Amino acid sequence: MTGKNRSDIMAKTPRIMYDLTSNGKENAGKNNSRHFMSIMSIRPILKAAAPVPKIEEMERFLFLGPHPDDIEIGAGATAARLAAEGKSVCFLICMDGRYGTDNWKDQKTTPLQLAEMRKEEAMASAASIGVTDVRFLELEDGGFYSREKLFRGIAACIADFRPDVLFAPDPDVDCECHPDHRNVGEAAKTLALFSGNEGIMRKLGAEEAAVQALAFYMTAKPNRYMDTTGFLDSQLKAVFAHHRTQFPENGKDARAITLYLKLRAYDYGIRSFRKTAEGFRVLGRTQMHCFPEGSR
Ligand SMILES: [Zn+2]
Repeated sequence: MTGKNRSDIMAKTPRIMYDLTSNGKENAGKNNSRHFMSIMSIRPILKAAAPVPKIEEMERFLFLGPHPDDIEIGAGATAARLAAEGKSVCFLICMDGRYGTDNWKDQKTTPLQLAEMRKEEAMASAASIGVTDVRFLELEDGGFYSREKLFRGIAACIADFRPDVLFAPDPDVDCECHPDHRNVGEAAKTLALFSGNEGIMRKLGAEEAAVQALAFYMTAKPNRYMDTTGFLDSQLKAVFAHHRTQFPENGKDARAITLYLKLRAYDYGIRSFRKTAEGFRVLGRTQMHCFPEGSR
C-alpha cells in the first residue's frame, strides 16, 4: 500500500475518539471518586444476586485426587466430617502415583508395584475417615496420559455418582508446579461447567449430571470455610498412618506436613470463628462462567 492510498483510506474512515481528559482537570477527581464508588457498591450487590452456595448443606460429594494421598492432605478433615454426617462421599484418584519415590527408597520396588501399594494405602486411608467408595483412573503419574482420557474418566464418574459438589485441587495457584494437580483442577473446572450439557457429555461418552458447585482445595484464595472441629486428628491419622510409602514413620516430611496441616487448620479456624476449619474456593453454577467477581 502506498503512502497516498493509506492517507486516502485514513481520510475516509470515520474515527471514534474517546477523550479521557475532557471536562478539564476539575472533573478528574469527581470521575475517580465515581469509579471508586462504583467498585465499592457493585461487589456486594453482585454477591447478593448470586451468592456462593453453602456446600455443607448439599448431599453428594465427589473428591478428585491427582495422587493417592492428595484428598486427605487437602480436604481430609472435610471428607471425614461429611462422611460422619451420613452424606454420600466418593473419592476418584486419577493418577497411579507410581513415581512417588521421593521418600520410598526401596530399589527393589518397581513403579507398578508402588502403584499397587499406593492403591491399598488409599483405600485404607479413606476407610479410616469413613469413605468406602474409592475409585481409580490409574493414569500414569507425572503427566503421561492424554487429556481426553482424563476428561472421559472424570466425566464417567460424574455421570455415575452424580455429585452435587465436585472437589479438586485449585489449578490457579501460582506456585503449583505439578502437572497432575493442574490438569485435574482444569478438568474439574471444565466438567463442572459442562456436566449438565447433554451434547458435550455425550461427546465424552457420559450422561449429563449437573454439578451444583465446585470447591477447590489446596487453594491460595479460600472464600468459604468448612468447620472441621473434632476431625483434625482423623485427617492426620488418614495421611500419616496409612500413606506410609510417602510418609515413613518419623520422616522429616511427615513432621513438616503435620505442623503445616495443624497451623492451616487453626488459621482457617480463627478466620471462621471455629476451633479448626478447612478453606476452599467455592464456585456455584453462576460463578463458573463470565462472572469474575463471583469467587471473591
Ligand atoms: Zn499430588
